[in-house]
Amino acid sequence: MFPREAEVVVIGGGVVGSSAAYFLSRAGKKVVLVEKGYRAGEASGANAAFVWTITRKPGIDVRLALHSIAIHQQLQEELDMDFEYVRNGGLLVMGDEAQLPFIERHLKARSEDGYPLEMIDAKHALALEPLLSKEKVIGAVFSPLDGTTNPILLVISLNLQARQLGAKIFHHTEVRGIEVVDGKVKGAITDKGTIKTNTVVNAAGSWGSFIGKMVGLEVPITPFQMAMLVTEELPPCVSHPIMGASYLVEEDTGKKGELGCGLIVSQQAAGNLLIGASWRDAGYDKRTIQEEIELMARVNVEAMPSLKNVRIIRSYANFFPHTEDDLPILGKVDGVEGFVMACGHNGHGIGMGPGSGKLIQELICAGKTSLPLDELSLARFN
Ligand SMILES: Cc1cc2nc3c(=O)[nH]c(=O)nc-3n(C[C@H](O)[C@H](O)[C@H](O)COP(=O)(O)OP(=O)(O)OC[C@H]3O[C@@H](n4cnc5c(N)ncnc54)[C@H](O)[C@@H]3O)c2cc1C
Repeated sequence: MFPREAEVVVIGGGVVGSSAAYFLSRAGKKVVLVEKGYRAGEASGANAAFVWTITRKPGIDVRLALHSIAIHQQLQEELDMDFEYVRNGGLLVMGDEAQLPFIERHLKARSEDGYPLEMIDAKHALALEPLLSKEKVIGAVFSPLDGTTNPILLVISLNLQARQLGAKIFHHTEVRGIEVVDGKVKGAITDKGTIKTNTVVNAAGSWGSFIGKMVGLEVPITPFQMAMLVTEELPPCVSHPIMGASYLVEEDTGKKGELGCGLIVSQQAAGNLLIGASWRDAGYDKRTIQEEIELMARVNVEAMPSLKNVRIIRSYANFFPHTEDDLPILGKVDGVEGFVMACGHNGHGIGMGPGSGKLIQELICAGKTSLPLDELSLARFN
């Protein structure tokens, strides 16, 4: 039966909404999670699976990433179903001298902030990842804390456990409006009926702006399309999540619109390599195009020549919930009591999602959080 009331309605069944629903249920709240599609049916099920701190900037960015890594570890202990989280260290690989100043600036800033990273030479990088091309790698940054997960299993596992704790989870259920009376949330209007509630969590990822509009808020989140390729199952051959340093350079130079591609490789427990990633300005279009598939294959084979003989079994694209400052929007908002933001995680939502969900639970249950959320508030855009 569709519920008529809840203490908290979570909108969005990706990693962020599922984490929030799990932690809120564990804290004793009566939670309803509504998802317009299926669990992990959007970005949380179509990504590179990195749980990653290496590219995160000093300040709240790296603190949230590290906080969330601790929560991934906590979940590994708490959740009944394994979600293949492995913390084996990540590599940010340099293939071009021109990237060096960006990397050096990043390492200096991280070190000054108290979260240093290790620069390693090409020989060391090749020893860690022998499939990398000797000709193409000039060095790398290593972060022992980084790793990979299986994001779909993570979401399923969070949902199963939340249900056991009493949460009600509805897929194919779309929120169409939010009732607000005298500046206070009173209900979530869905295509299956209205759920009376005083608290709504906007965990709608790239659709966070539409949910914001329902309560009269401008939420500056736009979809930014990225695509990936999946190979056939292979014996273990890639031990670390590998990312090209070009991602840090692209972030710094802000070149994000036209078709582009940077090296990303990781291996899932089943043996498939997830390789990518290309980006292009495509609105909410989830199709992959031939041009980007070829570009991804070329960039990855240049960096790892032996991939030339590996078969691609599928491609997928989805969206980063993009914000201008590359940080998520978390916390309460001015003027609408009971409306809580939990979206805009850009390219870091798999890593930062569980930590964000935990912080949202703390905010709703205790009114304060173990990591201050001021710098992540919606108000920073005003
Ligand atoms: C190709 C690619 C590679 C990536 N690689 C990584 C990576 O390696 N590591 C990393 O940390 N991050 C990565 N990301 C980013 C990461 O996937 C996202 O930041 C993260 O999945 C966002 O999670 P979310 O729960 O906020 O959003 P989503 O997973 O998009 O979930 C939001 C959900 O809200 C639902 N929804 C929207 N509107 C409504 C409504 N009105 N009613 C009900 N439900 C609604 C949607 O259907 C959706 O399922 C990658 C992204 C892409 C596209």
